[in-house]
Amino acid sequence: MKELTTEQKTFLLDSIRDVENFPKPGIVFKDITTLLNNKIAYGMLMNHLEARYKEMELDYIAGIDSRGFIFGAALATRLGIGFVPIRKKGKLPSTTICEKYELEYGFDEVEIHLDAFEGKVGARVLLIDDLIATGGTANASAKLIHDTKAKLVESCFIIHLSFLDGQEKLKKLAPVYSVLDI
Ligand code: AMP
Repeated sequence: MKELTTEQKTFLLDSIRDVENFPKPGIVFKDITTLLNNKIAYGMLMNHLEARYKEMELDYIAGIDSRGFIFGAALATRLGIGFVPIRKKGKLPSTTICEKYELEYGFDEVEIHLDAFEGKVGARVLLIDDLIATGGTANASAKLIHDTKAKLVESCFIIHLSFLDGQEKLKKLAPVYSVLDI
C-alpha cells in the first residue's frame, strides 16, 4: 500500500516503545525494537516502503548508522538494488569521505566509502534512517551523498519528531518523507 491509513499509522506508532531518560535524563527514546519483533508491524511497514519506492527508479539505498541499516538493507533487497552504509567515524575500512556536524554539546562525524556508488555519477539514491530529530545526522549524510556525485532522490524516516524542525534544512536538498509524525 502506497498510502497508510490512519489506523495503520496508529498500529505502527503503538508498536514503538517509549523509553524515558535514555540515553540520558530528559530524553524519551523511541525504541523500534518492539516494531521489529512484531511481524505484523515490520511486515506492514516494509510493504508500505516497497510500494512507495518501487517506481522511483532508485539505484541505491544509503542507510544511516545503525538503525537505518535495518530498514535500508531490507528495502534494498526487496527493490533488487544495492545498499550503502553511512557510518560513524572510524568504522569503514576503505577510503572514505567524512562530514562533521554539530550536536547539542560538541561534534560528531559520519563517513561514506568514496567508491560507495561505484563511481556512478548521478546514481539515484534514497537516504533512510529510523528517526529524524534535529536533522544534523541526516543533513551531514545528505552532503556525503552529494559529495560522491550521486543524486539524493528522497530522504525517508520512519519517525519524525515534529516538535523539532529537523526536516526543514533537509527539504532544501531533496524531498523528505516521514512515515510517522510525532
Ligand atoms: P538528529 O541528528 O538529531 O536528527 O538525530 C537523529 C539520530 O539520532 C538518528 O540516527 C536516531 O536514531 C537518533 N535519535 C535521536 N533522537 C532519538 C530519540 N528520541 N529516539 C530514538 N533515536 C533517536
